[in-house]
Amino acid sequence: MGGTFNPIHYGHLVTAEAARDAFQLDRVIFIPAGQPPHKTEKYVAAANHRYLMTFLAIAPNVHFEISQVEIDRNGPSYTSETLKYFYTLDPTVEWYFITGADAIVEIASWHSPDNILRYAHLIAASRPGYAFPRLKALAQEIGGGEGRHQVHQLEVPALAISSSDIRERLRNGLSIKYLVPEAVEQYINKQHLYAEGAMQRT
Ligand code: ATP
Ligand code: MG
Repeated sequence: MGGTFNPIHYGHLVTAEAARDAFQLDRVIFIPAGQPPHKTEKYVAAANHRYLMTFLAIAPNVHFEISQVEIDRNGPSYTSETLKYFYTLDPTVEWYFITGADAIVEIASWHSPDNILRYAHLIAASRPGYAFPRLKALAQEIGGGEGRHQVHQLEVPALAISSSDIRERLRNGLSIKYLVPEAVEQYINKQHLYAEGAMQRT
């Protein structure tokens, strides 16, 4: 599961766990983006902070892991390169890339979209406010559909949580309790992330 995780929240965690259950995945690897190619206009906390928050959030789940492959790579974080990396690690594994419905509608605009289904299945998770796009058409648009890898749909219980909303709350001094794991909330407070005045670009 890729994401900016700026910060990670319960929407991400519940989606990952639902995907693990539904597709009987052995584990879910969270991959915080280094330089997210789509997010240049937003405030993005430093990669080490986003990595550590993700680490804290997933620690209690024995099936969850974290990878710093995108953070270690120079330049923008492209999903196609990340999927190629994991596929190459072990081509005998059935890899799945978990993504939200809002992200999947933009898939044709991703870097090398025709490479995505070459290396992994896609799981498109429902997200409040985003209707399921026509997944078949999307799969065809990116050159897949008939091959080994498919685009799958996953209904996740509605959790209208977003990192944008959490950052907005922190800017306005509002509580983020129960939107993120407690350890993440404590880390944000301790490091003064996202507060008004703390948002210089890094
Ligand atoms: P931002 O508001 O800054 O865009 P975000 O909450 O969308 O942040 P991302 O890091 O952009 O978080 O999301 C990573 C992945 O998780 C994306 O594929 C996104 O669609 C998915 N996702 C995020 N929040 C939810 C949610 N509440 N339910 C289902 N999927 C989600
Ligand atoms: Mg997003």
